[in-house]
Amino acid sequence: MHDAAQAGPGAGPAFPEIREEVAKLCARYPSAYWQKLDREGRYPSEFVDELTQAGYLAALIPEEYGGAGLPLSGAAAILEEIQRAGCNGAACHAQMYVMGTILRHGSEAQKRQYLPRIASGELRLQAFGVTEPGSGTDTTSLRTEARRSGDRYIVNGQKIWTSRAEHSDLMILLARTTPRAEVKKRTDGLSLFIVDMQAAKNRGLTIRPIRTMMNHSTTEIFFEDMEVPAGNLIGEEGKGFRYVLSGMNAERILIAAECVGDAKWFTERSASYAGEREVFGRPIGQNQGIQFPVARAYADMRAAELMVREAAALYETGADCGAEANMAKLLAADASWAAAEACVQTHGGFAFAEEYDIERKFRETRLYQVAPISTNLILSYIAEHVLGMPRSY
Ligand SMILES: Cc1cc2nc3c(=O)[nH]c(=O)nc-3n(C[C@H](O)[C@H](O)[C@H](O)COP(=O)(O)OP(=O)(O)OC[C@H]3O[C@@H](n4cnc5c(N)ncnc54)[C@H](O)[C@@H]3O)c2cc1C
Repeated sequence: MHDAAQAGPGAGPAFPEIREEVAKLCARYPSAYWQKLDREGRYPSEFVDELTQAGYLAALIPEEYGGAGLPLSGAAAILEEIQRAGCNGAACHAQMYVMGTILRHGSEAQKRQYLPRIASGELRLQAFGVTEPGSGTDTTSLRTEARRSGDRYIVNGQKIWTSRAEHSDLMILLARTTPRAEVKKRTDGLSLFIVDMQAAKNRGLTIRPIRTMMNHSTTEIFFEDMEVPAGNLIGEEGKGFRYVLSGMNAERILIAAECVGDAKWFTERSASYAGEREVFGRPIGQNQGIQFPVARAYADMRAAELMVREAAALYETGADCGAEANMAKLLAADASWAAAEACVQTHGGFAFAEEYDIERKFRETRLYQVAPISTNLILSYIAEHVLGMPRSY
């Protein structure tokens, strides 16, 4: 399959050496590995450990804190290659963008305390507790509260869909520190905390796994008088929502890169199977009914890839890239879903057999229409913030 020119028209993909090394690492985790995990609902600890030891999950941590200090497009290249190889970066992608919260808004002491240990793999920062049962898309109506008491905060409430919580040492938690009735804007009064989950387990923190249609290690979390030292507040009290927003562009761009990787995986599978499989005495790929959906999904992926590149380039200059990051996520999630659908149709009945991996990747890539932000909300963002139409909610 012809590859996109990520570094500019006519040039090869950006970060070719990193891509090659990631592909080599992924080759050590073949289909059988992921199929077994999927069946057992188990976390890919070995895979994540190897990515950590190779330094990939610390790609965005600056060198002075022990990371690789790569730009966002480097991290995007890593995640894209993981997905393209048929592996699942959802097991670990959060570490890349969640740590940005500490980097951008944490105190120097917090950065020195946590970032080098995250970079070395001593501490895992894979959990991000924002969503609650009563507040999904409408984040500011969340109810988990953190009440200041002397040198600590006492946290009560509940989160849902806190992924990888059982495989993380730290969690970034968003909680209300000033009741909604007492703030001028509903976005005020929310604060971010670094929670030491290992210390809090059985001391006010309870984690319950949620089984989902794909193997995602997601959980619901209950807080009952959980204590968090006041020193673990990130930035200023009451400004947490702003800090969360500031990390969203990076998250959108990285997830979009994963979707591009998924779309490439599906399309490579489709094209190769369509050339081999003979029905009525000729390859099914000779039929335009088989070719066209695969070709269209490929074109969609290439367009999405350009938008991912543009969004990352803007991000790296420090410019506002909200529109591009959102559009990259929208287009890439649509492209991966179209490629997945075409791949199932191309494989006919065999798409449903576990051994082909298609049904697994199909389930995995479906998530990105919903999380970490749903397609509808991106469309609302474009309508309101790019096109100047009235706010719809
Ligand atoms: C597997 C998985 C992993 C996740 N991991 C995490 C995690 O690690 N941390 C975390 O904090 N959260 C996580 N999430 C939560 C995820 O971010 C939310 O599911 C997502 O934001 C949507 O929220 P919701 O599910 O409550 O949907 P709702 O907010 O209930 O929305 C339901 C549907 O209505 C649509 N909708 C709502 N309002 C509007 C509107 N005004 N206009 C048009 N359409 C609208 C939405 O687009 C959606 O399709 C995860 C979710 C899943 C499924």
